[in-house]
Parts: sequence; structure tokens; C-alpha cells
Amino acid sequence: MKKSEVVHAWSRILAGRSPSLSIEITKECPLRCPGCYAFDAAHLGGMIPLRGLDDYKGEELVRKVLALLDERKPLHVSLVGGDPFVRYHELELLLPQIESRGIHTQVVTSAFHEIPSAWNQFKKLNVVVSVDGLQPEHDARRKPATYERILKNIHDARVTIHCTITSQIADIPGYLDAFLSFWTSQREVTKVWFSLFSPQRGGADREIITAAQRTRIITELQQLRQKYPTLDMPEALLREMATPPRNPSQCIFARTTETVSADLKTWVTPCQFGGDPDCGQCGCYAAMGMAAVGHYRVLGALTAGRIYMASDKFGKTWRAICNALMRKVVFQKTPLPLKVIHP
Ligand code: SF4
Ligand code: SF4
Repeated sequence: MKKSEVVHAWSRILAGRSPSLSIEITKECPLRCPGCYAFDAAHLGGMIPLRGLDDYKGEELVRKVLALLDERKPLHVSLVGGDPFVRYHELELLLPQIESRGIHTQVVTSAFHEIPSAWNQFKKLNVVVSVDGLQPEHDARRKPATYERILKNIHDARVTIHCTITSQIADIPGYLDAFLSFWTSQREVTKVWFSLFSPQRGGADREIITAAQRTRIITELQQLRQKYPTLDMPEALLREMATPPRNPSQCIFARTTETVSADLKTWVTPCQFGGDPDCGQCGCYAAMGMAAVGHYRVLGALTAGRIYMASDKFGKTWRAICNALMRKVVFQKTPLPLKVIHP
């Protein structure tokens, strides 16, 4: 992140706003991956599953997403799903519009659909392709987005590969090395990221990694980052994986990122996983990256995270006061019923 972007992000926080927005632009996905958090019953708080929401298509989806961006004014937006490529034609319309607003965009996909090389023109776009291990394990979990199909669909594009490490692959000797050897030799791959499977509290998924596996994985990744420069996992981020935030209120990523689901009005809390995530077992790449930034010492013992927490508190209080004053002024000038002012 450039210095100007840090200052911009801080100004958003001081204004009581989140610098980052994640939008589940569709509830649909052609895959049925085991351990998928988006389709977990807890994702939207247990009231309704993602597939039970209304979602949008075509020009209506484009218009509503742009209106949301113009209202929230994030510096960074993630377009997720479901799989956002289910709305490929809408993405084609959205991406130039988002780029022209100066917003960094991340599109997360299984690459079941072709990623056009023409998208390489977008300077602020990162397309992230999810790959669940080497071909035998991946193809079993992610059909129809098999290795063969991914390689065909990323041809000439520019992508980041993201792999979530699960218990099933954590103990196989040389597995991560072989994964990196394969993907870093693909000319379309600019970066590789790993997350650790992040469960809900009380979860019993087969994918949950043990404490001993976590320690071994971190040590292995510390060595592999020397061998593969494309592995974009700084030492500070790997250190955070050993001691994740204790709860969502201590997670800078959760506090700087808002997530809205497919009806564009249901907010996913406390973080993108929704439900009751087990922070103590979290291994989310983005959360650990933000935690590393938070522990950066700005001056003596003063960390960026402490400055952020104070700014966030100030910003949210300031915004609440402004909103209260605004309501008071509006009511005094125009004594309209509440439902007209807040339709
Ligand atoms: S591709 Fe993503 S959204 Fe679709 S089932 Fe798999 S993990 Fe879930
Ligand atoms: S991203 Fe991870 S650490 Fe942050 S709130 Fe969610 S589960 Fe907890």
C-alpha cells in the first residue's frame, strides 16, 4: 500500500467508515465444495441460507452495486459469491466502472469460467483463483472447476492463486512444496497465497487443522517463502498465523471490512465468514495480513493497531453524533414521518 493510500484509509476510519467492502454479488455457484463457509447454514446468522436470499441480475445488479459503492465509498472492494463469474456479463460492465472510480477490486473465483486476458488492462484489479491442493485432492473437491479447466480458463490472464490448507493435506510430506512448484511455474500466476481452514466455534469439520499441524505449516511456509518469491506471505503475516486475534473485536480485518450478501442489504457479521467464527483457529490470509499491519510499531511501543482502534472508536462516535444531529435538523425543518426520511 502506498503512503497516500494509508492516509486515505485512515481518513475513512476517522470519518466512521470502513475502507473495505466485500459484496456477495450472487447466491449461485456451480460448485459444491466441502467446507464452503458461504453456503454454511450459519453464514447469515442461521436465519436464512444464502440460497434463500433474493439476488439480482443484469442491468439491475450493475446499477445497485455501483449505487452501493457510491454510497459506502470503499477504497477496496471484493466481489465474491457464490461464484461471481455466474454473473460474468455483469462483471464485464462493472469492472471498468469500478476502476474509473479509483477503487481497488478483487474478484474471487473457482475459474470455472474463462478469465479474459483483456482484464489485464485493469491496473487496480486482482483476480484470485481458489485451488484446494494438488490435482487429485482439488479435482475431487472442486469439480467442475478441475485443474484442467482452470489452466484453460486462466490462459493469458493474470491471477493470484489462493489455497486453503486443510487437515487432509497438512501432514503429507512435501505437499506445499509440490503445490508451489506447480503453480509458480505457470506464467499467468503473479502471486500465491495460503490460508488455513477457519472453522465456526464448535465446528467438527474434517478440514480443521490441529495446533501441531498449524505450527508445522507455519515453519514450512517460512522456509518455502525463501525458495519461491511468488509466495506472497511476509514473515510478519506468518507470525500472526501462530497467534490469531482472540475475538472479532480484536480483528482489524473484520473491523475494516464490511460484507454484504446477495440481496445487497443483508450484512454478514462479524466478518466475511459470518455466524460465530472461531477466531482462535482462524487462518484467513487477509485477517493475518491486517493483524501484521496492526502490530507494526509506528513510534516506540505505539503500534498501527492501537492508532487504528482509537481512530475507529473516534470515527464511529463522530458519525453517530453527526447522524443524530442530522436527524434532529431534518425533523425540525420538515416534520415528516420517519419512514419517509428513511425509506
Ligand atoms: S466455489 Fe466458493 S462459493 Fe462455490 S461452493 Fe466452492 S467455496 Fe463455496
Ligand atoms: S477474520 Fe478470522 S480473526 Fe477475524 S473475525 Fe473472522 S474468524 Fe475472527
